[in-house]
Amino acid sequence: MPLYEYTCQACGEHFEKLVRSMSNADQVVCPRCASMSVKRALSLFATSGSSGTDSTAPACGPVG
Ligand SMILES: [Zn+2]
Repeated sequence: MPLYEYTCQACGEHFEKLVRSMSNADQVVCPRCASMSVKRALSLFATSGSSGTDSTAPACGPVG
């Protein structure tokens, strides 16, 4: 179940919301001022105890 972060354009409230389907991700209202002018900040995945990482890229290396 994806977890989306929203930012209210009206009061600037930052909240998160779990959505079952991406189709319903548009119908989100601010829990503070109940405004529909919310903007999706970024998407996260609500996973607990994930084993292993997908990205195997090096964190940092010598540049040049
Ligand atoms: Zn708001």
